[in-house]
Amino acid sequence: MRLFRRAFFPEASDREWNDWRWQVRHRIQDLETFERILHLSHDERLALERGGSMLPVGVTPYYMSLLSYDDPGQALRRTVIPSTAEFVCGPGESADPLAEEEMSPVPGLVHRYPDRVLFLVSDFCSTYCRYCTRSRVVGHGTLHPTVSRLERALSYIRSNPEIRDVLISGGEPLMLGDDRLDWILTELRRIPSVEVVRIGTKAPVVLPQRITPQLVRMLRRHHPLWMSIHFTHPDECTPETSRACAMLADAGIPLGSQTVLLRDINDDVETMKRLVRRLMAMRVRPYYLYQCDQICGSAHFRTPVETGVEIIRGLRGFTSGYAVPTFIVDAPGGGGKTPVMPEYVVGREGDDLVLRNYQGDLYRYRDPRPAGERAAVKGRR
Ligand SMILES: *Cc1c(COP(=O)(O)O)cnc(C)c1O
Repeated sequence: MRLFRRAFFPEASDREWNDWRWQVRHRIQDLETFERILHLSHDERLALERGGSMLPVGVTPYYMSLLSYDDPGQALRRTVIPSTAEFVCGPGESADPLAEEEMSPVPGLVHRYPDRVLFLVSDFCSTYCRYCTRSRVVGHGTLHPTVSRLERALSYIRSNPEIRDVLISGGEPLMLGDDRLDWILTELRRIPSVEVVRIGTKAPVVLPQRITPQLVRMLRRHHPLWMSIHFTHPDECTPETSRACAMLADAGIPLGSQTVLLRDINDDVETMKRLVRRLMAMRVRPYYLYQCDQICGSAHFRTPVETGVEIIRGLRGFTSGYAVPTFIVDAPGGGGKTPVMPEYVVGREGDDLVLRNYQGDLYRYRDPRPAGERAAVKGRR
């Protein structure tokens, strides 16, 4: 980090480097600067010349300092530096596979589940993940955090009292200033039916400088507030990110992680085990592991669904139960998050349930069905 700073940002003072607004202003976006900092592959250069697909390119100096100089195959580098594979929209892929637009009663608010909504407060990010599930809107400048647009979403939430959980996302919600965020949280807190507010963010990972004492002081006034942090790889668990998570956890904000399963980046048990253990040590509870959504230009990132199942099988029993996320396939067309799990019930033999444990051994659990149940279960099928 120190070497990186001395080489590429020698003029930056500690104060500037640790200022999130400085990090955002100095995010790397153009071929010339990438070329200066990284030894680009031919494919990366071609992709950067075209300027990224639908999704803009941007990487904070901080996150840039974690990238390998000469290895285009490095996990973190692949998540933020574009490749030409992004320009190919493969079979089954589309701009909005989860039908979020159809399920938006007002712009930037997705109401898919009975008791909760996804509130997209901004389409801006400091760093753009190449597999972004919302590349159709992110960075396009169409979802501004203006009072009038936010007011429309708030008014929808006010008039639908079945909504008890609001998930603030984007883009990056923490790209909003403290005052605007404080206003949104205050307005949400005023709605009697809203019991819980969650913030979905990658800021502690790509821009840990954003987690300031002032931000944390403001957030803790809006409890119960939860946070889901987007982590991809154990190499993201730096001292800076640990410190940001510690500040949030100390403020009483329960932290969960959301991770997208990505081919040749985190698609093996060992990498995922290292990640979930580091997360636990940072008081971040692994929440979801997502199958990569069928967004245009994401085929090179996608693994077979079976890979996710195998990873969960390799975690359950082999590390803390708290560290095992739920593997989710978000059903195309708006069906919603669908858990896909390894099968531990082999079947039934008479009164016994036959179970397979984490090591693959079979066990019988005596579990007689109450009289009359048998017919009832059959009838339900
Ligand atoms: C993921 C998501 C949620 C939150 O789902 P949980 O399973 O409660 O974390 C809510 N709304 C939409 C549209 C989502 O995609």
